[in-house]
Amino acid sequence: MIELTEKRAHFIRQLITDELASGKHQSVVTRFPPEPNGYLHVGHAKSICLNFGLAQEFKGICYLRFDDTNPIKEEEEYVNAIIEDVRWLGFEWHAMTHSSDYYHELYDFAVLLIKKDLAYVDSLSMEEIRAYRGTLQESGRESPYRNRPIEESLDLFARMKAGEFPDGTHVLRAKIDMQSGNVNMRDPVIYRIRHAHHQRTGDEWCIYPMYDYAHPISDALEKITHSLCTLEFQDHRPLYDWFVDNLPVPAKPIQTEFARLNLSHTVTSKRKLRELVEKKAVSGWDDPRMPTIRGMRKRGYPAAAIRQFCEVIGISRSDSVIDMSILEECVRAELNRTAKRALCVMDPIKVIIENYPEGKVEVLKPVFNQQDPDSETRELPFTREIYIERSDFMEEPPKKYFRLSPGAEVRLRHAYVIKCHEAIHDEQGNLIELRCTYDEKTLGKNPEDRKVKGVIHWVSCANAYPVTVLEYDRLFNDPNPGREDDFFKFLNHDSLKVKQAYCEPALAHQPIGEVFQFERLGYYCVNESKEGRVSIFHRVVDLKDTWGKIG
Ligand code: ATP
Ligand code: MG
Repeated sequence: MIELTEKRAHFIRQLITDELASGKHQSVVTRFPPEPNGYLHVGHAKSICLNFGLAQEFKGICYLRFDDTNPIKEEEEYVNAIIEDVRWLGFEWHAMTHSSDYYHELYDFAVLLIKKDLAYVDSLSMEEIRAYRGTLQESGRESPYRNRPIEESLDLFARMKAGEFPDGTHVLRAKIDMQSGNVNMRDPVIYRIRHAHHQRTGDEWCIYPMYDYAHPISDALEKITHSLCTLEFQDHRPLYDWFVDNLPVPAKPIQTEFARLNLSHTVTSKRKLRELVEKKAVSGWDDPRMPTIRGMRKRGYPAAAIRQFCEVIGISRSDSVIDMSILEECVRAELNRTAKRALCVMDPIKVIIENYPEGKVEVLKPVFNQQDPDSETRELPFTREIYIERSDFMEEPPKKYFRLSPGAEVRLRHAYVIKCHEAIHDEQGNLIELRCTYDEKTLGKNPEDRKVKGVIHWVSCANAYPVTVLEYDRLFNDPNPGREDDFFKFLNHDSLKVKQAYCEPALAHQPIGEVFQFERLGYYCVNESKEGRVSIFHRVVDLKDTWGKIG
């Protein structure tokens, strides 16, 4: 069982602690920089918890900064979803900013780079630039435009901005080193022409900065102290530093990389997640099987469980795959603490309690959560005819079987001890009904003269509330479906089972999103209501990890 104790040590937490102690920094300023081109997933949650979490912990600040340097792909829908998802995870930003807030500064800095002979307008095509760049084995070649006069570059760059040229005719490149062993340093493109409407700046600009240029400068303008990013940006760090060192920016942020989160049995790339949505392998970005924040939220994963998961997996610099069962264990640990308990029978067999008066209804009032004795109570009717789970009865039980069998006694949760006298079968020999008696002195307490070990769940037949139950399973059968382009072949086609169940009547009126522990079965979330009455539940997670054994 996972428990959240104190914060786990990790190298970034240590780094900040040391820097604050030595006086290198007086405070911590971080940012979370999503590109609004899709919905956030569990990998982003790791980055959010790290950036916002560290700022919180060290009483610093964290910005939510939209990386909206690409005018074509970004949509308002994603921006709003990201805002909602970060808040739902439990974080609040110092300020919400956009890379596009800095377009004027970015432009002025680009002009300055040209003046310092550290940037030039290149008129090769994108394909030529790519070919000239060389490879890891082979150094790059200088563009014939590399040494055009500064005045000429200044003039062309101004005219690029003024809209005189069509897309693709010129770019602005940093003048660094075409021989560098690091391909990122071979005169990277920093501006390109794009006659495209931008969701925030409209038609003001027809040149747009590249991420590698906009990112370090935005960080510096916001005086970010710790620019935390995933390991794939490690090779970009010299470029990050180059911009910060060569421009008169107000701060010098330091980039520190950490390993991205890879979660087993799912994919965490926006492109692949979009493919699942577009090809209708799932019902949408918020399908409860999706590793998106919306998906996990709809599934009924508490935000606290996701934060806990991000703490438990820690932060390191080596790539690894985290097993999905760790996330599920965090969900169980949190729900075990917070979820209301209720009774629901999935596969009913009828029990008739022969010595209980016909027509009598006793309304029991157990609390919803025994972990919290002050929690609200609900009305639980007990009657002569009840349903129990078919699997809680055995005609010929093995030793140490503590549930119901002929001649044996069992406790009904919150109610009485009953004893089975007879099992009734139909003509084909199928079990259809059990005849029992109850011990009226055992309501809520054990008999004094004998031990009754087993406790089972039940619902009153006359008061049972029928619901549909969706049982979600993992979306992929393979632990690492993302390793192949054709990851659809790893889809688990049994990831949704639909069942009918009978639950206690108090569950008829519950809000969508409320999670219950159906005792002895698992955690279930209200999925849908019709005319104010719950019609569908879905399974959040089962009570125990059953995947560990299988694979
Ligand atoms: P994807 O790979 O899904 O397209 P991305 O990295 O392009 O995601 P961004 O919107 O640029 O998505 O990510 C915002 C922030 O989240 C970045 O700082 C990025 O490093 C971080 N991030 C993205 N995926 C992960 C992950 N799997 N683990 C940890 N951090 C991540
Ligand atoms: Mg990115």
